[in-house]
Amino acid sequence: RAKGDGRGAFHFFEQAMDEQLQARRALELDLRRALQDGEFELFYQPLYHLGDERVTGCEALLRWRHPERGMVSPADFIPLAEEIGLIVPLGDWVLRAACAEAARWPDHVRLAVNLSPAQFRDRSLVATVVSALATSGLPAQRLELEITESVLLQDNAANMTMLHDLKALGVRISMDDFGTGYSSLSYLRSFPFDKIKIDQTFVRDILHDSDALAIIKAVLDLGASMGVTTTAEGVETQAQLDALRGQGCAEIQGYFISRPAPADEIAKMLGAEGERQSAPSVSPQ
Ligand code: C2E
Ligand code: MG
Ligand code: MG
Ligand code: MG
Repeated sequence: RAKGDGRGAFHFFEQAMDEQLQARRALELDLRRALQDGEFELFYQPLYHLGDERVTGCEALLRWRHPERGMVSPADFIPLAEEIGLIVPLGDWVLRAACAEAARWPDHVRLAVNLSPAQFRDRSLVATVVSALATSGLPAQRLELEITESVLLQDNAANMTMLHDLKALGVRISMDDFGTGYSSLSYLRSFPFDKIKIDQTFVRDILHDSDALAIIKAVLDLGASMGVTTTAEGVETQAQLDALRGQGCAEIQGYFISRPAPADEIAKMLGAEGERQSAPSVSPQ
C-alpha cells in the first residue's frame, strides 16, 4: 500500500471525526438549553389488559421537540443526556410531569415511567419519587418504574438497596425489554419484580420464528409461576395479539392498540377528570 494514500485516508478520517465531534457538541449544547426552554414533552402509550379488555396503564415516553430538527427520538438523546449528566434533572422533570398528568386519570389506570441507569445510581431518586407522588397526589400503587437489565449490571449491592427502597414506597417495579440483556434469569431470582415486559423483538417474530414463540411461552410460564404480570411489547397486528392471548399473556402494548400520543388525547381516551368536567352534559355538583 502506498504511504501517500494512507495519509490521505487518515486526513479524511480526522476531518470526519472532527465533524462528528462538532455535531455532538452542538447537540450537547442544544440538550442543555432544551430543558430550560421547555422543549421536552411526554407522550403516553396505553397498556391493554387482555382479560379485563380495557386500558390498565399508560407508559410515559419522552419526546424532544427541537426547534430546527423537529421531533428527536429518545434513542438519539437519552444516551447523550446520560453522558453529560443531564439525565438526573431531566428524569426528575419526567417523573413530576408524568405523575401530575396521571393523577387526572381514572383510578384503575397506572402510570409507567422509564428510569435510566444513571438516575438509578443517584441517591436523590427516592426523594424525587416521594416528592413527585406527594405533589401530584398520585397514589404510590399507581406508579410503575421501568428499569432495564443494564441497571443491574454494575454494583449489585447499591442497586439492590435502591430497588428495595423504591419498592418500600409502595411503587411497582417492572423489568423492561426482558430477554435482550445478560443474566436475565438470575435478576428475576434476586429481586421481586412486579412485572416483566417481554421485548418487542420477540413479539415481532412470534408468528414466523418458532424460537421467538418458545421464548415467549417460557417467559409467560415463568411469570405465572412467580406471580409476576407479563406484558408483551410492540404488538402491531391482530394475529400477534391472538397468538399472545392464546399463550395466556395478560397485558399487551403496541401500535395495534395505540401509538404513543400526546397527553390530552390520552386523557380524552381514558375519560380523565379534567375532560369529564369540561363535558357539557355533566351537571355541576
Ligand atoms: P421502551 O421503554 O422499551 O419503550 C417502548 C418503545 O417502543 C417506545 O419507543 C415506543 O414508542 C415503541 N413502541 C411501542 N409500540 C410499538 C410497536 O408496536 N412497534 C414498534 N416498532 N415500536 C413500538 P420510544 O418512545 O422511541 O422510546 C425508546 C426508548 O427510549 C424506550 O424504550 C426507553 O428505553 C427510552 N425512553 C423513553 N422515554 C424515556 C424516559 O422518560 N426516560 C428514560 N430514561 N428513558 C426513556
Ligand atoms: Mg419502557
Ligand atoms: Mg421496552
Ligand atoms: Mg426499549
